[in-house]
Amino acid sequence: MSVNYKQLLLFDCDGGRASLFDDKTILSEIPSNCDCYLFWNDNDSNLSNKINYLKSYRQIHLYPVLESNSKNATDGKLIYFLGKLVDKYSFIIIIHGGDGIYKEIIRTVSEEYGNDRISNEIFTNPTPRNLRELLRQFRQRNQEYGYIEKHSSNNEHEDNLIDKSKNRCLLCWKFCNNFEDFYQHFRDKHHLRIKLICNCKLEFDHLLEFHNHQRKEQSNAFSNKGVAQCLAANQPTKVYLDPHPLILLISAGKTNKCIYCKNKDRSLDPIALISHLTAKHMLYNDIRFQCCSDTKRTLDRFQNHTSTQHKIVDIKKHNI
Ligand SMILES: [Zn+2]
Ligand SMILES: [Zn+2]
Ligand SMILES: [Zn+2]
Ligand SMILES: [Zn+2]
Repeated sequence: MSVNYKQLLLFDCDGGRASLFDDKTILSEIPSNCDCYLFWNDNDSNLSNKINYLKSYRQIHLYPVLESNSKNATDGKLIYFLGKLVDKYSFIIIIHGGDGIYKEIIRTVSEEYGNDRISNEIFTNPTPRNLRELLRQFRQRNQEYGYIEKHSSNNEHEDNLIDKSKNRCLLCWKFCNNFEDFYQHFRDKHHLRIKLICNCKLEFDHLLEFHNHQRKEQSNAFSNKGVAQCLAANQPTKVYLDPHPLILLISAGKTNKCIYCKNKDRSLDPIALISHLTAKHMLYNDIRFQCCSDTKRTLDRFQNHTSTQHKIVDIKKHNI
């Protein structure tokens, strides 16, 4: 069994070949025993921005060429690294645009290490599909050589789709104003199954489901489950009847009694209790809520405060 079986991809990214990496979802498919080295001419700042973004992936190594006036500088750097790495990898493939020099390199390496050590692939207008196919071949070779892939997280960015500091899509670098636009973008452009994460940590597959949740949370400070919980507070909301100093304990179901009425046997659910207090004791304006700070909010203000807390705070890839 080949535990040490390792594969290497050397990319000459000049001439538009960086478009292989346009779909970053594919990068999570890189087998764990496979490293990618990318070489390109650093005088193209668009290209550099695009490629530099890949540096967060553990198996991707970036080598820009600084000698921007020399036509063959990228080949030169790639070949230097090939020489350094050839002993460490069981199989190597060079991705390039048809430069004659590589033919000679492949021949030389094959003479010394045998025919199954190195290969090359010529791409002039590649798409992410070509990368996917290359990775499929890598997995196939892994199988042939008995290498068992670790299904670990190859990189910690696997599920992340958005660079939140720049409001950009990590897959194509598109800018979006808000999470709802991102949601549309991932579905329409990348055909991804995604989940929306609410500030309250609940997850939703569809925008509609999230909106239903948001509407439900916005509707009332009280439900039959009790008082709404402020997401910024780490204890239950306290309810007071101003100027009454006692905290009104409001619990789920028909468990609550009016503190003013003589009839102590009558138990009410939270909504009924509040409508009773309001109707019979004219207390609507006296109800105060205390949640994440010392502020005691009126019913309207509290409702406003908690209802705006349910919003999308992240979008992740569905792990299925
Ligand atoms: Zn995108
Ligand atoms: Zn009462
Ligand atoms: Zn609060
Ligand atoms: Zn929520």
